[in-house]
Amino acid sequence: MTLRLYNTMTRSVEPFTPLDAGRVSLYTCGPTVYNYAHIGNFRTFLFEDVLRRWLEASGYDVFHVMNLTDVDDKTIKGALAANASLGDYVVPFIDAFHEDRKYLHMLDADAYPRATEFIAPMVVLVQDLLAKGIAYRGDDGSVYFAIGKFPDYGRLSRLDTRELKTGAGGRVSADEYAKEDARDFVLWKAAREADEKVGAAWDAPFGRGRPGWHLECSAMALDLLAKRYGRDVLDIHAGGVDLVFPHHEDEIAQSCAHTGQPDFARVWMHGEFLTMSGTKMSKRFGNILTARDLRMDGVDAATLRLLFATTHYRQKLDFTDEALASAREGSRRLGEFASRVARQPGVEQSEFDRIALVLGDEFSAAMDDDLNTSQALAALFEATRAGNRALDAGEKPTAAFQSVWARMTGVLQVLPADPQALDDDGFRFVLESDGYPRERRLQEFWAVEMKNRRLEAKQSRNFAESDRIRALLAEHGWEVRDHRDGTAAVQRK
Ligand SMILES: [Zn+2]
Repeated sequence: MTLRLYNTMTRSVEPFTPLDAGRVSLYTCGPTVYNYAHIGNFRTFLFEDVLRRWLEASGYDVFHVMNLTDVDDKTIKGALAANASLGDYVVPFIDAFHEDRKYLHMLDADAYPRATEFIAPMVVLVQDLLAKGIAYRGDDGSVYFAIGKFPDYGRLSRLDTRELKTGAGGRVSADEYAKEDARDFVLWKAAREADEKVGAAWDAPFGRGRPGWHLECSAMALDLLAKRYGRDVLDIHAGGVDLVFPHHEDEIAQSCAHTGQPDFARVWMHGEFLTMSGTKMSKRFGNILTARDLRMDGVDAATLRLLFATTHYRQKLDFTDEALASAREGSRRLGEFASRVARQPGVEQSEFDRIALVLGDEFSAAMDDDLNTSQALAALFEATRAGNRALDAGEKPTAAFQSVWARMTGVLQVLPADPQALDDDGFRFVLESDGYPRERRLQEFWAVEMKNRRLEAKQSRNFAESDRIRALLAEHGWEVRDHRDGTAAVQRK
C-alpha cells in the first residue's frame, strides 16, 4: 500500500506523490509568539510531527519549515503593554515554544524562520504584485491584494466570493474604507505610531510599514524552498483547520499570483480542534491550557501524544482528565511491555517473528490510510497483548520484532520516558501530601515556577493573572513576598 493523504483542496484522500522522488518539502504554520502556545496549537503541531515522522519512516527525505510569527497585531499589542521593543518582547515566548516542543518530543524543523528576518523577500513579493497590477496602494498608504483580479480565489475554502463581499456583517473597520473592494486583504500595513514605538516598521519602495500575516508565510516558504530545491511549489502545507480561511486562501492568492503556478502546495492538510469542555483540571490549577501547565502537572509527553493519537487528526478531540488518565494507563502498559522485552535475551527465531509481521503490516496500513493513528495504536496494543502472552509462555523476542517495535513506537512517541519511574507515579506532583523528600522537592519546584509566572504577569501588567497565581499559591500554603530585588515564595508554617 502507498501513502494516501486527505487533501483539503480536493476534499478527498489521494495517493501521495511528491514533486521529486524521495524528497518532501513540508511547510507548517507555526506559533504567533505573543504568548505561550495553547495545547490546542500543540495538537496541530503534534499531528504535523507524526506526519513528518511517518514520511521519514517511509523513506522520504523531508525538508520541514515552521515559521514563527514575530510581527502582527498581537505581538505589537503585547510589546506596547509591556513597554518593550518587539524584538525583546517575543524572545521569552520563542524560547518557551522551543522548550515546550522539546518536552513534547517534536522533531527539530530544518528551519524556524522569523518573519522579521525575512522582510526583504516580502518586499520583493509585494513589489511584484504591484507591478502585475494585482496589488494596489490604498488611501491609507497600505498595500492590498485585489481579489477581483485573481479568479481562482476561494478554491481552497470553497467560499463563494460574492458571499464574502456581503457576508462580513455590519461591522466595517477603519481600513475597509481604504480598500477598493471590501474582500481585499492587506499585504503591507502602513506604519502607525504604535508600530514605530516598538520597532515594527520597515522602509519599502511602496511606503514604510510592516507585513500582513499571510504575506509572511508565502514569502518565507518561497524563499527557503527556492534556496533548497529551486522550486516554487510545496509538496505539503499543513496547519490548523482555522487557517483554511482566510490565511491559507490568501497565501495561495499571493503565491500563485507571484509564481504563475496553478498551486502553492500539492497537498493541503488541516488538523481539527481540541476542545476542553470536559476538563476538571481548571479546578485545581486554574486553566490548564498550555504545554507548560501540563509539564508542571507532571504529565509525561508520551501520555499526551497517546491521547492525541487515539483520535484521527481530522476529528475533534475533547480533552478531559479521564481521557488523559486512560492515555497515561495505555502508555504505562506499553512501557511495561517494552521493559519486559528489554530484559529478555534476544533469539533468532520465535513466535515474536509472527507478531512483528502482523504489527508491521497493520501499523503501516493504518498510517498509510491518511494517518489513521487510532488504528495504528490498536495494532501496538494488539502486539503488546500477543507479546505478553508469548513471554508468559517462555518465548523470547527476536531482533526483527525489536526493530519493528522501535520503529512503530518511535513514530507515535507513546512510550513513557522512564517506565520504572512511572510505575510508582513518580512524575506526578502530589501537592496534597507531604513527608517525602521527593514530593517536597516537587512542591517547591511548582511554587518557584508559579512564583516566576506571577512575576512575569506582573511585569507585563497583567494584574488579574498575577492575583490569580497569588491566590492559587495561597490555596496551597505558599505566600508570595516581594522584595526590592526580587520576589520569593515562602511556605507558611
Ligand atoms: Zn502560515
